[in-house]
Amino acid sequence: MTISSNLDTGAQTGTGIQISGVSKSFALRGGKSLLALEDTDLHTDKGSFLALLGPSGCGKSTILRILAALDHPTHGTALVDGHTPDQLRSDSELGIAFQDHALLPWRSVRKNIELPFEVAGKLVDKDYVDELIALVGLKDFANAKPSQLSGGMRQRASIARALVLKPSVLLLDEPFGALDDMTRQNLNLELLRIWTEKPATTLLVTHGISEAIFLADRVAVMSPRPGRIKEIIEIDLPRPRTPDMMRTPEFHAYVDRASELLFGNDGRAEAEA
Ligand code: ADP
Ligand code: MG
Repeated sequence: MTISSNLDTGAQTGTGIQISGVSKSFALRGGKSLLALEDTDLHTDKGSFLALLGPSGCGKSTILRILAALDHPTHGTALVDGHTPDQLRSDSELGIAFQDHALLPWRSVRKNIELPFEVAGKLVDKDYVDELIALVGLKDFANAKPSQLSGGMRQRASIARALVLKPSVLLLDEPFGALDDMTRQNLNLELLRIWTEKPATTLLVTHGISEAIFLADRVAVMSPRPGRIKEIIEIDLPRPRTPDMMRTPEFHAYVDRASELLFGNDGRAEAEA
């Protein structure tokens, strides 16, 4: 196992995710402010898969929202492949799936998955939509409304929607957070298969330690608020990853390392600063 103390791998190339010295404070009522991120650095390589682990409220979603151009840093810069999040968004290079699936209830699965084409003012690629619907196992539900689907199916539909424009950057914020373990595991395998076919620069926020290690090239562990990247664990497991790898000593060593970083040696989570 390699633990990298050098957090700027990939910085030389200028591709991948480049978050440099980012701070984010939110204005609260009464003139107070809340420091969510403090001088955060995070660099990944183009086409790599990074998982972000950290205690609740440490700023994981804030990082993703900044990369999705839904929020802007108070200080510092965020670039992906040399472009600002706003540029990426207007170039339709961003695929986003957050925990709240946000499918439009009045549209069918197919129409929801086609939506990004309409928003981007592009012609719908029907064949590719069909392919994705099949890939996420929703062939028999293409014409169903979100309310007719299970939670897992809705998440699969939102993943398909995130992928439909073949984005070069995929931002996933606990997309499977609300699901049971078995559904989660199946969706992880699906996500891995899709990502292997079309590797996008991926940032996945999860609270599942095993999930993070199973999927990612690198796992970034954050400290409590104000969030910083505490350590990056390089995951040297071969690809393709298969579920039986989760039972190997190497895998358990990674889980132990990440748990130690998150919860300390005494198993207690570090308190907010
Ligand atoms: P995480 O995703 O790691 O749980 P978030 O990034 O959602 O954490 O939030 C980090 C901190 O910033 C939290 O304390 C949260 O309450 C605060 N926060 C997030 N968004 C806002 C906002 N729009 N206004 C005020 N505080 C916010
Ligand atoms: Mg969050």
